[in-house]
Amino acid sequence: MLPPHRESAELTAPLKLLDLPSGKSWDGRIAYLDRDGVINVGSENYVNSPAEVELLPNAGLAIGNLRRAGYRIVVVTNQSPIGRGHWDSENLDDIHSEIRSRLLLEDSDAHLDLILFSPYAPWEGAWARKPNSGMLEAGRQLIDAASSNADFDSIKLLYDAEWVERPDESTSFMVGDRGVDMAAAENHGVRGIRCDPDIGISGVVDSILGGVA
Ligand SMILES: [Mg+2]
Repeated sequence: MLPPHRESAELTAPLKLLDLPSGKSWDGRIAYLDRDGVINVGSENYVNSPAEVELLPNAGLAIGNLRRAGYRIVVVTNQSPIGRGHWDSENLDDIHSEIRSRLLLEDSDAHLDLILFSPYAPWEGAWARKPNSGMLEAGRQLIDAASSNADFDSIKLLYDAEWVERPDESTSFMVGDRGVDMAAAENHGVRGIRCDPDIGISGVVDSILGGVA
């Protein structure tokens, strides 16, 4: 089992969540978001440095709207350049810091609650790598644990068939721009919503919020 990795921390390190905007209480909804082609502009050659980060139009506003509507935001991104040896997870942390600060500049509510990534190359067959659902499974368990003030020292994340008693995911969703994202959503049992990679999250958020608000 090759598990997901987490931005700037061990996977099961304590997770501190920021309050939702307006002190809204969280009712279990998670917006799982792919990164490239959803939040920022993707590239066939990867996003390799903070200088290459370019947000898609209104991505910050869309994420702010999701949090104002009561969603926690979990980014789940395949990052095979690490497994291919192109660069390391510290570089990825720098890229994510850049994405975070640009989102917050656009909308001060556009906070990403958790970023998980799969550093593995495709041929490693990682459970973390989409189309597998490892990142969504870990994301759900970490957000639930943080919300209920669980003891992270004793947390054990469950995956695949090992995770039998799963929480309801019917009010959550996953947005991605590719087939692997939709497959990961289906494998996790959450609604998958495909967006246009040139428009990203802002092109689908209104229909999402209109449909469930
Ligand atoms: Mg993508």
